[in-house]
Amino acid sequence: MSAEPEDMRCNEVVEIVTHYLEGALDEATQTRIERHIEGCRGCTHYIGQIRITIDLLGRVRTDDRGEPQSDELRAVLREWRAGRPSSP
Ligand SMILES: [Zn+2]
Repeated sequence: MSAEPEDMRCNEVVEIVTHYLEGALDEATQTRIERHIEGCRGCTHYIGQIRITIDLLGRVRTDDRGEPQSDELRAVLREWRAGRPSSP
């Protein structure tokens, strides 16, 4: 019996956050990311920043690997990946 993969880590969130913000994730993954965000201040903060950036840009455009095509958004994500929020 394998447990459901409930525990999402910050680095997983970072990897798929652009898909999340595009609404491109399946429901199960979306639920997991939302649960993580609810309990993680770092991700809440950074996703807030990313949302604001996307808002300013009008939309998020990503390439095939899910990398954002705007410099501003890439900068926010790079900062997030570099100084990852503390988490177990
Ligand atoms: Zn987190």
